[in-house]
Amino acid sequence: MELYIHIPFCMRKCRYCDFLSGSYEIEIRKKYTEALINELLFYATKCADEKVDSVFIGGGTPTFLETELMKQILTVVSSRFNLSDNVEYSIECNPGTANQSAMDMYYEMGINRVSIGLQSANEDELQMLGRIHDLKAFLRTFEYARRAGFDNINVDIMTGLPKQTPMKLRNTLNTVTMLRPEHISAYDLIIEPGTQFYDLYNDELTKRQQGEKNLKSLPDEDMELELTRITENFLSSKGYIKYEVSNFARQGFSSRHNIGYWDRVPYIGVGIGAASLFNETRWSNDRDIYSYINRLNKPGSAVALCDDPKIATLKNRLRNEAPWEIDKDIIPESADIKHLSRKAAMEEFFFLGLRKVKGVRRSDFENYFDTTVDAIYGNVIRKLQIEDLLTEKMGVIALTERGMDISNLVFSEFLLD
Ligand code: SF4
Repeated sequence: MELYIHIPFCMRKCRYCDFLSGSYEIEIRKKYTEALINELLFYATKCADEKVDSVFIGGGTPTFLETELMKQILTVVSSRFNLSDNVEYSIECNPGTANQSAMDMYYEMGINRVSIGLQSANEDELQMLGRIHDLKAFLRTFEYARRAGFDNINVDIMTGLPKQTPMKLRNTLNTVTMLRPEHISAYDLIIEPGTQFYDLYNDELTKRQQGEKNLKSLPDEDMELELTRITENFLSSKGYIKYEVSNFARQGFSSRHNIGYWDRVPYIGVGIGAASLFNETRWSNDRDIYSYINRLNKPGSAVALCDDPKIATLKNRLRNEAPWEIDKDIIPESADIKHLSRKAAMEEFFFLGLRKVKGVRRSDFENYFDTTVDAIYGNVIRKLQIEDLLTEKMGVIALTERGMDISNLVFSEFLLD
């Protein structure tokens, strides 16, 4: 299984950001850490028999959390969970929020992969995005990570920015690849409601959706496609292999956590808003930090239970429960709980699996669902092949380059009534 830990703290909100994050007082950060540890302890008991193959600490800005608080979280992860010998253990980091001693501590505590959010190497773009850092801060952070011993580093960049030109994108790609990170994620900017960017660019977004060209700030569809091609070609020329719609890696460094997500490996998410998938049940934690803290820090919560001398009895009780019965103390009634139907699981198999460049295996579908792909999706797959959006070789179905460009449209074809 995989473990995701959400740290919702940031120094300030970026102008395009709709992630569950914000700037909170130190007292809230402390209480949140306590609540998070309670939730981790609960799942450590519940998942005592599960091997954890990957851990991802995301946010927010996990490296904005005080190192003492982070150390408590990392101690629980390493001492209470059954981590695989070759676990992939990642932390997200924003430039300017981790110094050398913090990086050293993460490394010593077992983290073996750092994901750094650069977004752009151009100072004007960083300011326009509302990032807290400049390029120098990124370069320092990268250096700290290497010096600490990290030999698996991801750098996040963004394409489709307002007024982004091919030259600016090439500058970002060039700056990043000169450092030789093992992995690069290149995400398209998505303008989400509730962000400053939405207020600024919503009108243009509507025009772009209506097919208008030569927009004032946002790249139109043709320019977006050009920026995507520049990214793919540039990274390919530097030895990065595209393995998913937005992800590129040097040989052997694809993110196992990401791949697990697209392969529908069971995962547990802790922290506000964190999503989980287990036994074909999906649920998400409450998104409100205050109710999350109140719920998990109340007496009798997991920490109190796990410190109980009768812990062995408790473990036995939990193991004997029907798997993944929803525990109302930990997963609130307000949580968004969805038991996936067989059809929904089949849809997910294709939505998520086809994001991978290598595609999905017919035999995996057939073994899991005990029916043939053709019985469910034969007509859809034939239609998409004729439209040059899907290809099939030796029982492996994958998106074509054209299919990648309009992947969301392709995925919608796999919806079952
Ligand atoms: S650093 Fe990341 S999570 Fe924090 S505000 Fe910026 S985009 Fe959002």
